[in-house]
Amino acid sequence: MCPRGTWLIPEFEPTNVSHCLLIETPSSGLILVDTGLGDAALRNPLRTLGSRAVSVGVQRDPAASALEQVRARGFDPADVQHIIPTHLDYDHAGGLVDFPDAVVHVTEVELAAAQDRNRRGFAQVRYDDRAWAHGPNWQTYDDDRGTGGWMGIDGVRPFEGLPPEFLLVPLAGHTLGQIGVAVDLPDGRRLLHAGDSYYARREVLAGRRSIRQRLFHHLTDADYLARKNVAWRCEEMIRFHPEIAVISSHDPYEWAAWRA
Ligand SMILES: [Zn+2]
Repeated sequence: MCPRGTWLIPEFEPTNVSHCLLIETPSSGLILVDTGLGDAALRNPLRTLGSRAVSVGVQRDPAASALEQVRARGFDPADVQHIIPTHLDYDHAGGLVDFPDAVVHVTEVELAAAQDRNRRGFAQVRYDDRAWAHGPNWQTYDDDRGTGGWMGIDGVRPFEGLPPEFLLVPLAGHTLGQIGVAVDLPDGRRLLHAGDSYYARREVLAGRRSIRQRLFHHLTDADYLARKNVAWRCEEMIRFHPEIAVISSHDPYEWAAWRA
């Protein structure tokens, strides 16, 4: 599910992706973590995304949409009962419209930021109202009810109506209400989809960010310091907890390396 190409993510990778996870569960049907850009954007990037298609180098690739990837695996898109966007940026939530009947799990603060009629600055670019024009069935989460802690992160909680193997991990910073999704896997490992907490594993492990990298984060982070703190948490997990598979949305290599 890969919108290709980005020169905006400096010196990280020649090929950008937007990782979506599709998980089949016995009790809750298909669960999709992030939807990527959406079918229309990958069929006709320029017409759908306008200048954003140019700025992040989106190439036409209909087969890469979450919608087509679900079909390619033999499922009906209607089988996707739950969607967990790590956040509502257009490259993560653009495909919500392709699964109009799914329950969409999102924090209250993220939904409020995305639907704010008076969005300013980068928030005007990052969110796209067309993604929720169909009126998704939102399941929202407030800030106060998450009482669990995990790996130094507070406010961890289960998702409503999902199996207990799925945990909501607050990772605010890149956006005001970004979350990570932790999933206990049958083989005993735990996967954490960390959204845009960092852009490339190489960036996290380098220990020192270039000026370009810092500028780019300053541009895209709703709360730069909070996002840095979240990236440190991810770094700890990557360095010291190999039993946790941490993946970010846009690194094209760490997912493939983990599966190998
Ligand atoms: Zn992103």
